[in-house]
Amino acid sequence: MIAVMALSWILTMTPGGETVPVRAPTPPENVREDSRMWWELMKMIPALPWGYFQEKDTWAGSGTFSGLDPNGVAQVNIRRGAPPSRFTVNHEAGHALVAALGPQVMDTYWRARGLPGTRQDWPGGPQQWHIPEEMFADDLGALAEPPGYVAYAERATGVPYNRAIMDALYRGLR
Ligand SMILES: [Zn+2]
Repeated sequence: MIAVMALSWILTMTPGGETVPVRAPTPPENVREDSRMWWELMKMIPALPWGYFQEKDTWAGSGTFSGLDPNGVAQVNIRRGAPPSRFTVNHEAGHALVAALGPQVMDTYWRARGLPGTRQDWPGGPQQWHIPEEMFADDLGALAEPPGYVAYAERATGVPYNRAIMDALYRGLR
């Protein structure tokens, strides 16, 4: 599906090419203006659930994904006084995609990314970049970074990042 966003309406194009308007979820009270960055990303990644940024005093980094609400809307907390970078938005969107699509998306990712063995065999490690879901999120973040950024999966496994393959993977998720 292809989604085109207005402020509070989403136009969803069905596989038959028919365009149907769908009302966006009611925003929470303290929704941030820069939630638009998320809606822009939804145009590139149709599988990405609707999301809002809320301002919080988060303890870690510039943003955190804190799950899907009962309507399936992604809850993203942005640190007060710190506008999110494209990288942060992409990274948190990666977590939302795993929450929305389920853990099997990690197997698809593992194969497409050419990581060693299977996700289940992966021994892990002590750092955040050893965690498979963090690798998935960070590889989406890397699409917003200039070439040369070494994403978690490359740091953990040494397997180089292929921007074209990863761009196609995230766009093609269903
Ligand atoms: Zn993360």
